[in-house]
Order: sequence, then C-alpha cells, then structure tokens
Amino acid sequence: MLFLGAQMDIIKDYFLCDKCKNKNFIRIFNFSVQFRKVNFSDDLIYDELTEEIYQCTHCHTIFSKHQIETRFKEMIGEHLKSSVVPKE
Ligand SMILES: [Zn+2]
Repeated sequence: MLFLGAQMDIIKDYFLCDKCKNKNFIRIFNFSVQFRKVNFSDDLIYDELTEEIYQCTHCHTIFSKHQIETRFKEMIGEHLKSSVVPKE
C-alpha cells in the first residue's frame, strides 16, 4: 500500500518502511577502501568507496539506495497505469 497525499494537481508518494510503514529515514554512510591485486604483478590497486544506506527512524530497518530506487520505479509504473483514461 502506498500513502497518498494530494494537494491541487500534485500527488506525492512516499517510500515507506516495509515493516512499520514509517516514511522517515536517516542516512548512514559506510566508508571503505577496497584493494585489488593486479595479475602478474605486486601492485595493489585500491578504490575508496562511500556507500549510503538509509535507516527507518521507527523500527531501524536498513534500506539500500538500490531498494529505494527499485520501489520508486514500481510506484511510477503504477501511477502511469492508473492515470490512463479509459476510452468512452
Ligand atoms: Zn520501520
């Protein structure tokens, strides 16, 4: 179920927590360094990574950016379907 808030012509959909339906999240960063060994040499290549995750402020469930983007695509798909006016 999606929570809808309508105001004039604007419909706003929120990403909701799977567990408790809360719509408030805090952003958490993970910082890491990833090392890779290059074949046939002693060189190490490294990448500095910053990952963002989001935590429900109510039940503390963690969501990734990918999960939220996937949900948005579904929500947009549903709106596009429901806004199609049937022919008379
Ligand atoms: Zn929650």
